[in-house]
Amino acid sequence: MDYQKILNQVSQEFAGKPRSGKVASYIPELAKVSSQKYGMHLHDVNDNNYCFGDSNERFSIQSISKVFTLALAMKVVGDQLWNRVGVEPSGDPFNSLSQLENDSGIPRNPFINAGALVVADVLVSYFSNPKAALLTFLHEITGNTSIDYDPVVAASEKSEGYRNFAMVNYLKSFGNIENNVEEVLDFYFHQCSLSMSCRELANAFIIFANNGRVIGSEREFLTGRQVKRINALMQTCGFYDEAGEFSFEVGLPGKSGVGGGIVAVHPDRFAVAVWSPPLNPKGNSALGMASLERLTTLTGFSIF
Ligand code: GLN
Repeated sequence: MDYQKILNQVSQEFAGKPRSGKVASYIPELAKVSSQKYGMHLHDVNDNNYCFGDSNERFSIQSISKVFTLALAMKVVGDQLWNRVGVEPSGDPFNSLSQLENDSGIPRNPFINAGALVVADVLVSYFSNPKAALLTFLHEITGNTSIDYDPVVAASEKSEGYRNFAMVNYLKSFGNIENNVEEVLDFYFHQCSLSMSCRELANAFIIFANNGRVIGSEREFLTGRQVKRINALMQTCGFYDEAGEFSFEVGLPGKSGVGGGIVAVHPDRFAVAVWSPPLNPKGNSALGMASLERLTTLTGFSIF
């Protein structure tokens, strides 16, 4: 498969064309990012790299980080995690509080904010320095020790983070947060502020396409069963109340973030990341989704 030819075609179809959607502004720092940024990077399991556009420029990965924290939490606490967070789609927006009341404070899945806050709490309980532990995990799976948080973005989200403050307090009232809420939020805002390029994201996500292993290494970061669980969660919950449409249009497990990034995985073939900041009404990158639709249509590599 000539991936570079296909990426060139995607770029020709969309680059420089008018963009639909709106750049996220509820985190003030994100509103400063140009709506014209556009890049894509595909990393295959034979370790080949293909790209176009702004694929080497770092951006705020936001909710894409929920896949990394979930992977780390599964690694350290195993199946106990499922006592505190579910594995079913919510069908609601990422920041919705509404189901928690009927579900006794057990979030439907780890990719809505409520679930990610519980996962953050698990990591805050387990590690004496959870921020350092998450960075170490990322450095190990990518071999790239320059990946870091953006403290300005983390502070910006904290300054306006009323919804997440409400969420974590509500979860704590049900007994599903063990730590001080400020500590959990500090970790959560930092994980969301991680700054990575499409290239770095595709590189990091290759473990989900390669059965839990970094290419060329025998070291198993995650078991095959854990990877299967994470990919199934990305497929069913990675795009919140647009997971069904993403499954149809793109047909790959994936995860979006309000910074405009999307990462998707074709098990045993590749990981691909795309970045375009304007979001559709469901909070997913409009052009990112359209670009991935073209990729899987042109390659025939939707998993459906
Ligand atoms: N940090 C963002 C928030 O909690 C992440 C949301 C997202 O990327 N969907 O609102």
